[in-house]
Formats: sequence, structure tokens, C-alpha cells
Amino acid sequence: READAWESRFEQAKTRDEHRVEVAANLGNTAHAADAVERGAEGVGLLRTEFLFMAYSSAPDLSTQIAEYREATDALDGRPLVARTLDVGGDKPLPYWPVPQEDNPFLGLRGIRLALTQPHVLETQLRALLMAAVDHPLRIMLPMVKDVAEFRAAKAIYDRLLNEIAPQERATDVQLGVMIEVPSSALLAPTLAAEVDFFSVGTNDLTQYTLAIDRGHPELSAQADGLHPAVLRLIQMTVDAAHANGKWVGVCGELASDAMAVPVLVGLGVDELSVSARQIPLVKARLREFDLADAQASAQLALSKATSDEVRDALEEG
Ligand code: PEP
Ligand code: MG
Repeated sequence: READAWESRFEQAKTRDEHRVEVAANLGNTAHAADAVERGAEGVGLLRTEFLFMAYSSAPDLSTQIAEYREATDALDGRPLVARTLDVGGDKPLPYWPVPQEDNPFLGLRGIRLALTQPHVLETQLRALLMAAVDHPLRIMLPMVKDVAEFRAAKAIYDRLLNEIAPQERATDVQLGVMIEVPSSALLAPTLAAEVDFFSVGTNDLTQYTLAIDRGHPELSAQADGLHPAVLRLIQMTVDAAHANGKWVGVCGELASDAMAVPVLVGLGVDELSVSARQIPLVKARLREFDLADAQASAQLALSKATSDEVRDALEEG
């Protein structure tokens, strides 16, 4: 099966009945974009830019960042790039951006909250992304957004840059979206969906915050299962709100590459799955195993259960 998946890795990702679902790669390093394309990626669905910032002893300047992002756009050759702005704090400290000692770093200054404390860093990153992706489809996404106020604060900087930089020097096929990884943003998805261009569900953090289980906890992390019906309901609310507003939704957390979860996510209406490059051929092959109607039935079955074990047992039998 793995050999067949590899052979057909360049085929367009779709279900057996040709319902299209994009399959993109999660990357921590722009140097790996070429490899992702070689493995059949239809784009990059999550570029974790914090690793670029961690590789330097101070925030990389504009030209360093442009060169770095161009490595990805060059390799992608017209395929979309979804780049996430700096997501540090919590489990990912940045040595030159010290955060005061916190009792609960996962509930502290991280993601967009932290970025908005030093807006010039965010501004330089947005400028670099916009300039690097001249003539390239660019989707910028903001991490850990909890409500529309944080989105608007970042969008004000983005809008100013769009006005400031001449269109021939920057991306014109560009969208600004948010990650859905805090339960409040899923609950408030209808208000966000009216203003953002897209959503990407970060199931790793969304599961952690919904179930109140540290995603890295040595004893508990096995229970942090994104197929928990509580998490699935939040994803359902997110997709429904997005589609009602004509916006698309991706999933870029680990759940997107779980063979049991793929039909559930597709059945919920997810438009894009972003997974580690290694998993791309397998996820594409998995999509070809079912029809959209099967996927919708799996999603309804999963939503009707009370625990993640019940969901997994039902899907296994189903
Ligand atoms: C997530 O939270 O699901 C996600 C994709 O972001 P990260 O794993 O980088 O926190
Ligand atoms: Mg996250």
C-alpha cells in the first residue's frame, strides 16, 4: 500500500467520487519546501516561521527574512504558501525575546498576544512575507487568536503595509486568516468568519485547551485526542461559519494525518489538510478510499459519541 501511495503521490488529492480536498505540507524550515513538492505536496499549509527566528541570536532583519521565504516560494513554483507569523512563548521561548516568569506559560504571553507587544517585529515579518511572495499565492495566518480584536489589531498593520508597498513589489494574491486553536475562536467563528479570509484549525492546541490536557504531558498526552467529540464539535462550528461566509478551512494539526480522522474531517467539510511532508502520499491515498457521503456519515457518527474512545470504536466498526 505504501508503494502504491508513493507511485500516485503527484495525483490531485480527492475522494473516490472526486470531491477535492487540498493536501499540503507542514514545514519548519523553508529549505524543506522542495522535498515537500517531491513528496506530492499541493502547497505549504503551515510554515512554522518561529524556527527561522530561533536560528538567529536576534530577530532576523527584512532582507534575511525575504531571502528565507523566497526559498519556499521558489520551490513551490506557484503552489500556495500558508505562512504563520511568529508563534513563540508557551512551550517555545525565544532567547532574545524574554517573557517574564509565568506560572502557566500555555495561558500566558504567546502567539499573537506576544507578537502584538512588539508590533514592529510583526510588521517586519509581514513586510518580508508580502515582498518575498511577489507573483506568488500567499496566505498569512495568525497564531493563537482568541477573538476578533486580536485579528483586527494585526490586520491594521497588514492593511497599512498593503497601502504602503507598491503592488508590483508585493504579493497581490494574498489572504489574511487565523488559526483556530483556542476554543473561544471556534465558539466565535461566525464573528471571525465575517472578517478573515480563511481559517486553519490547529488541532494540537485546540485539543489541549478544550480538554485541559497539556499536549506534552508525559502521562496525559495520550488522552489529548483530537477525535474527542468536544473538539469535533468545535471544528464543525468553525467549518459551518466559514462556509456560510464563503471562506475556506484547513486543518494543520496532527489530527489531519490520522487515517481514522481524515474521513471525519472531510465529512465535516474541511477543504485542506496540512500534514508533515512524509505523510502526504498516505493522506492522498487515504482520501481515494472513500466517497464524500461516507465521510459525512463518519462525521455524524463521530459527533454522536460521548468520548474519544467511543468515537474510535465506532469508526473502527463503521
Ligand atoms: C496546532 O496547534 O495544532 C498547530 C498546528 O500549531 P503548533 O503545533 O505549531 O502549535
Ligand atoms: Mg498551535
